[in-house]
Amino acid sequence: MRTIVSDAAIHWGQVAKEVADRVVRPLATKYDRLQEYPWEIQKELAAAGLFGVWIPKAYGGHGAGIVALCKVVEELSRACPGVGVMYAVNALGSFPMIIAGTEAQKERFLPPIAKGEKLIAFCLSEKFAGSDAGGMRTRAIKEGDDWVIRGEKKWTTNGGAADLYTVFAVTDPESKSRRISAFMVEKGMPGFSIGKIEDKMGIRAVPVVETHFNGVRVGDSHLLGGKAGMGFVHSMQTLDWARPGVAAQAVGLAQGALDYALLYATKRNQFGAPISSFQMIQEMLADMSAKVDAARWLVYAAASAVDEGDSHVTKLAAECKYFATEVAMEVSTKAVQIFGGYGYMRDYPIEKFMRDAKITQIYEGANQIQKLVIARNLIKEAQHLDHLMKYIPTEVHCDYPA
Ligand SMILES: Cc1cc2nc3c(=O)[nH]c(=O)nc-3n(C[C@H](O)[C@H](O)[C@H](O)COP(=O)(O)OP(=O)(O)OC[C@H]3O[C@@H](n4cnc5c(N)ncnc54)[C@H](O)[C@@H]3O)c2cc1C
Repeated sequence: MRTIVSDAAIHWGQVAKEVADRVVRPLATKYDRLQEYPWEIQKELAAAGLFGVWIPKAYGGHGAGIVALCKVVEELSRACPGVGVMYAVNALGSFPMIIAGTEAQKERFLPPIAKGEKLIAFCLSEKFAGSDAGGMRTRAIKEGDDWVIRGEKKWTTNGGAADLYTVFAVTDPESKSRRISAFMVEKGMPGFSIGKIEDKMGIRAVPVVETHFNGVRVGDSHLLGGKAGMGFVHSMQTLDWARPGVAAQAVGLAQGALDYALLYATKRNQFGAPISSFQMIQEMLADMSAKVDAARWLVYAAASAVDEGDSHVTKLAAECKYFATEVAMEVSTKAVQIFGGYGYMRDYPIEKFMRDAKITQIYEGANQIQKLVIARNLIKEAQHLDHLMKYIPTEVHCDYPA
């Protein structure tokens, strides 16, 4: 891990901070109440060039990489975590294309995303296939030259606002390892429609909907990579790239909650003194600050591992997603505690951070799944520890392999 935060990442973080301070924070409550897509914010993000951050230069982006993406998500989420994910989901939707698209597909689909002219969504989860995404039921069947997609996806973030949908479907139900393929579906294609629009606890600035595919017909030009059977592999690689983004959302969220809590603690007086002078409040602030900083640097380390093609990226991505999102929940809950009764009220900005935090522990793999991923990878790494066996007494009641 040579570079952690490049000059480009710092630059794009600063650009995002300027937009977040000027536009996002003043509008955060409005869109939380309205639960509508914030087009006025989307236009500002596009004008600032932020949708090109993670897209390679060859396809109209800035090629600034995943650490830069994380810096942007962090700054936006510090002002409004809902806007953080409204932006980051475009990276999630376009990663499969960057990872596996054909040259023609990349040239066609990526430049309008980089300019913020087209938005994209990621359709993996279904009603009966969440953590077990491989158990999906949406089918794509070859009929002549076309693929015909039938099924329903659940929880499509950006659904309705997006112009493009990366859709995973079963193409070979008999195969164990090559069952699933990914397709690009465009808004307006016959058979594609938006179903239920969810009414959510948090991240209310971004729509989350059901997407329905009722005989959507696409050619091989819309089959990701032009080859069937690699969809599951590409979806897992996509999650390795995207989980640092969710973790960055959590870090920004936690920092935003800490900012308000710290300020409030220095202004609110009880017993004739600011509450920040009480040691139990200081203990909370110190704990929050240390955890936010630890989470932040773990996110940068994981994002940097993606940028450098590090082979340990799966474990690091799961670790940062798990750790940062637990920190976000804890820090935002403590921030409400520091605000006391006012923190519980909707006319104060702090309860929104706590509501927004909860989903970060659930989506892009619930944290129980992250821990499974971490443990599986750790156990694989155990073979490199064999040289330590000589220090472990062999008379213990353990059946060591020969
Ligand atoms: C607001 C929101 C936005 C979303 N956005 C998208 C999106 O844009 N695209 C998309 O494809 N999906 C999206 N999702 C789906 C999200 O990724 C899933 O909700 C998540 O993966 C969990 O799946 P599930 O809800 O079906 O829960 P389940 O899989 O039913 O899990 C329920 C509980 O059981 C636990 N559990 C499950 N399996 C195991 C196991 N083997 N060991 C231990 N515990 C286990 C889980 O951790 C969880 O606590 C979104 C979800 C929400 C709520």
